[in-house]
Amino acid sequence: MSAENKIIFGPINSRRFGRSLGVDLSPSNKQCNFDCLYCELAPAATVDIQAQSIPVSKIIEELKKHLDDKMDVITLTANGEPTLYPYLDELIDEIDKIKNATQTLILTNSATLVDPKIFASLMKLDQVKLSLDAVSPEVFKKIDRPHTNIDINAIVTKVIEFGKVYKGKLFIEILFVYELNDTKEEVKKLSDVLMQLNATRIDLGTIDRPPAYPVMGISYKELHELAQLFDKSLPIHIASRTHAEPNNAEYSEEEILNTLDKRPLTQEDIDLLFDTESKKRFFTLIKDGKITTKSVGNLEFYLPSENIQRKRKK
Ligand code: SF4
Repeated sequence: MSAENKIIFGPINSRRFGRSLGVDLSPSNKQCNFDCLYCELAPAATVDIQAQSIPVSKIIEELKKHLDDKMDVITLTANGEPTLYPYLDELIDEIDKIKNATQTLILTNSATLVDPKIFASLMKLDQVKLSLDAVSPEVFKKIDRPHTNIDINAIVTKVIEFGKVYKGKLFIEILFVYELNDTKEEVKKLSDVLMQLNATRIDLGTIDRPPAYPVMGISYKELHELAQLFDKSLPIHIASRTHAEPNNAEYSEEEILNTLDKRPLTQEDIDLLFDTESKKRFFTLIKDGKITTKSVGNLEFYLPSENIQRKRKK
């Protein structure tokens, strides 16, 4: 298959983003400013510009062939980092002309937000997903192995600024790697940063597919424990499922309400965490009106009814 034929992929029914048509802005080879330990692509030397780029007209031509009005999002992604695509701004403008009600989304590692032009381009999108695996320079360098001169402090400053001014749906993704960024200290630092911006949802994940380097993910239970360490006003969601082994623990009614009070959960979380008896108690609590649901960026969460009006504390 020629590179041009691989520009568009999907549609994929993404649990997190809906029905998505993917646009690969680096279809022929990996071009990334990071070389993350957990990357599902093969290791590659980092770059800060794309050496090979597809013309905007070609992408639009391919997109027109696949776009229909049932698509929720057009997802800009890449074998690597999509914001390294040199004509990103023009591409977004051209997609806006043909997308109708379909939303635009980009999945980025956040590093190029320090470039004012790219910051401005991302502002035009309907949805943005920023990855942020660590905020400590040493942890960031170990996990994400960035290109020379990429400074996590500068990225964090721009992530916060973007999170304050951006009007679309902002998703943050944190991927946890065993014994690297899964410490209380790092989570506390991440939580402090995330409290300074308005994310629609914060997805916590771990390694789900074979990684580029020999590193390991963490268990669902550990992910759940780390989730509890974030400030409870944050819209945290555990996104990873592959490593999810059922926990099957017994929860009393009070424990169920306390757990949901600390962290609203999805049906999938509940299926994994609760044993059969606890699930029955959970349904009784729903029937009695003590538990209710709230939608956060395409997903439905259960939380105690008395918390539905809970506002951010800070
Ligand atoms: S930013 Fe994404 S594509 Fe680039 S190395 Fe990391 S995981 Fe792979």
